[in-house]
Amino acid sequence: MQSALFNRQPDDKPFLISGPCSAETEEQVLETCQRLAATGKVQALRAGIWKPRTKPGGFEGIGTKGLPWLKKAGELTGLPIAVEVATAKHVEDCLAFGVDILWVGARTTGNPFSVQEIANVLRGVQVPVLVKNPIHPELELWVGAVERLKKAGLEKVGLIHRGFSSYGNTDFRNAPMWHLPIEMKRRHPDMPLLCDPSHICGRRDTLFAVAQQALNLGFDGNMIESHIDPDNAWSDAKQQITPEVLRDLIQDLVWRHETT
Ligand code: PEP
Ligand code: MN
Repeated sequence: MQSALFNRQPDDKPFLISGPCSAETEEQVLETCQRLAATGKVQALRAGIWKPRTKPGGFEGIGTKGLPWLKKAGELTGLPIAVEVATAKHVEDCLAFGVDILWVGARTTGNPFSVQEIANVLRGVQVPVLVKNPIHPELELWVGAVERLKKAGLEKVGLIHRGFSSYGNTDFRNAPMWHLPIEMKRRHPDMPLLCDPSHICGRRDTLFAVAQQALNLGFDGNMIESHIDPDNAWSDAKQQITPEVLRDLIQDLVWRHETT
């Protein structure tokens, strides 16, 4: 399937990044990634190595020892690998292991000191960096994070829309507030914009509708979490799907009047 994340051409198909919320074990990472590659629908692999958790005591990520697992998955499948970074040390570790794409998580985008620390360590390095929107609907923080990375000289900076947090029960884990990513794209027309239906929905049954809505609105693709045993995932169990369910979901998406 023809699809690039940067320098997108008019005919490029939507880009898809998938993989587990968290790397848990070597076997889980390798099996998930190989089954994803077998779908033929995925252009990049993801896994959280360091997990920002709301409260202490939960699984906070496997840490640096998970990077070689993901690297191996990338080599076995021929797909680029993407990892969330929140500190300068995370960036250094990712670069040392040849991680192909970095992304800045929602909690980090909301913290200018952290974004600046990441930007500083990336000065003089060319690696694609995707910036998730901050947790709360503050567009200027998203804009500012992008600016800090661009000012450090990074040429490939992209955007991920993961929805916005609100207090209390809503239909979404993080409300999409579509006008905000659309305004972001208006200001940065040359940057790829992906949607993250997993963290918007927080559940499986609405993933398709959100992924489809993103394509309808002109997004460049999606990042969707997948796991070989979603119910027993160590993080975000409710929203993850198996690689095969992902394949069927992607297959049914309509893009420019055709299924993907
Ligand atoms: C994630 O992608 O696993 C993640 C932690 O996402 P967010 O930063 O959007 O909450
Ligand atoms: Mn997650």
